[in-house]
Amino acid sequence: MFKKRCRGCSKDFYALDLMNGLCADCFTDSARAADAETQAEANLTSRAESVILTTECCPGFAIKDRLGIVAAECCLGVNIFRDAFAGARDLFGGRTEAMQKALAEAREAAVAELKKEVARRGGNGAVGVRIGYEQISPGSGNMLLVTAIGTAVAI
Ligand SMILES: [Zn+2]
Repeated sequence: MFKKRCRGCSKDFYALDLMNGLCADCFTDSARAADAETQAEANLTSRAESVILTTECCPGFAIKDRLGIVAAECCLGVNIFRDAFAGARDLFGGRTEAMQKALAEAREAAVAELKKEVARRGGNGAVGVRIGYEQISPGSGNMLLVTAIGTAVAI
């Protein structure tokens, strides 16, 4: 039987004993690291249940601390629109609806990402949030950038 080198510890093992190029020990370690990463992401998402306000202040919320500007963006490739259009048979209502759906999803993704940024700063809210739409043309392709920007706060 020929041997192969483990990607983790660089020791030689029988090829059949390797999983994804890793020996049993290294595989366990990498699985544990991946678990920790998944867990950290889940914690962040659960901590990201922040209050997102478009106003600078709001009755009932006392801002304890301002934690700086947070920003997030979501990029829509032009393909998304083309696909949305292709799927929409109705020339009048359908196209508009598909476009609105794609934009709404991009906006929600940007806000979800903004909430994670808030959580990363140790905050639980953002005030003065603005949503922006910008067309960018990297290379030859057109993309629509949906941005969310605000001030992270602790309330
Ligand atoms: Zn190893």
